[in-house]
Amino acid sequence: MNDSIRLPGHRFLHSPGPSRVPDEVLHAMSRQPMDLADPRLDRCIAACEAGLKRVLQTEQADVFLYASNGHGAWEAVIANVVAPGQAVLVAGTGHFSESWAVQTEAMGGRVIRTPWVQGRPIDPADVEAVLREDVKREIVAVFIVHTDTASGITNDLPAMRAAMDRADHPALLVVDVVASLAAAPFAMDATRVNVVLGASQKALMVPPGLAFVAVDATAMEVSRRNSTPRFYWDWERRKSPLSYRKFCGTPPQSLIAGLEASLGLIFREGLAEVLERHRRLAEAVQAAVQCWSEGGALRFFCEVPAARSVSVTTIEVSEGIDPEAIRSVARERFEVAIAGGLGPLAGRAFRIGHLGDINPAMILGCLGGVEAAMTVQGVPFGRGGVERAIARLALD
Ligand SMILES: *Cc1c(COP(=O)(O)O)cnc(C)c1O
Repeated sequence: MNDSIRLPGHRFLHSPGPSRVPDEVLHAMSRQPMDLADPRLDRCIAACEAGLKRVLQTEQADVFLYASNGHGAWEAVIANVVAPGQAVLVAGTGHFSESWAVQTEAMGGRVIRTPWVQGRPIDPADVEAVLREDVKREIVAVFIVHTDTASGITNDLPAMRAAMDRADHPALLVVDVVASLAAAPFAMDATRVNVVLGASQKALMVPPGLAFVAVDATAMEVSRRNSTPRFYWDWERRKSPLSYRKFCGTPPQSLIAGLEASLGLIFREGLAEVLERHRRLAEAVQAAVQCWSEGGALRFFCEVPAARSVSVTTIEVSEGIDPEAIRSVARERFEVAIAGGLGPLAGRAFRIGHLGDINPAMILGCLGGVEAAMTVQGVPFGRGGVERAIARLALD
């Protein structure tokens, strides 16, 4: 199909990031830039910091915003916390934990991995065992991906903290909430997470290009003792009342205006209600996928129902089915954009994002478009997925 031709109406965007951006956020972003001394700029930054702390459920952490994507936030964490040669435990969750591990190694860190068991969340016993074996206490941090967006699996963070406590290990707990924040429950202080990192384009409903970290006092102290050369990412340097210093240069004004607006929408709906909406819509998607899987050719990649993400569902296909063809028919003919398999799941899976600015009718439209694409492609799926999703949505 010609790139310049598209159907009328809107395209349903169901990639698990970038996700749909609410009109209120788009409007907030379409403003003239401000001079750097304009008090409105300081107010916007303060609102973003305070709002993120509220969503992260932390009273005490420092928040640092970066003009970067999620990989930039990974870089910030590694640069501040891990000196070359120091060890980090990266718990295996799939494509995203592996990418973070590779980036850590590229920056000189020594990575110890727990095994990734396909289709399953992190086993806390694996984390505990590695930490117990580290008798010299060389591991400086444990990196956990909360929701692995490729696997569609959410890990149990209190269980990770409990495993670290049982091993009585002083490593920092560092959590990637890029795909889970404002979708799945998360509480930084209650779970005693030392560092959190996230990005704008997933459940936070802002276009890509803005990332953040939240850092507690213990992690700040580790960073201060780390003499590795760094500048742009450095936390201490960003601790300033001046917006120009906070961002190590000019803030990305449109993106922070968008974030302020999106946080406003989250608090207007209520954080608990936002999380509950994600749970309900994810259960509708799961009801449809369960139905489709009864045709024998598709299945949930995540084998543990309780670990299925509320942000994204990964659907594995049998040999002989081309998920990329389903994707392109869904997008080009039915205006439903879904995601493909990543890393080891490339060509073996497709993914439905159901995070951020999403309501029941959008979910039903997405599921209908995917069913239509599978019908066109002759995929033997269990019929009636949309009806099952409706039945789930009718419950409450
Ligand atoms: C999307 C994502 C990232 C990477 O973010 P980019 O903005 O693409 O660099 C990292 N971690 C998780 C869990 C993600 O979902």
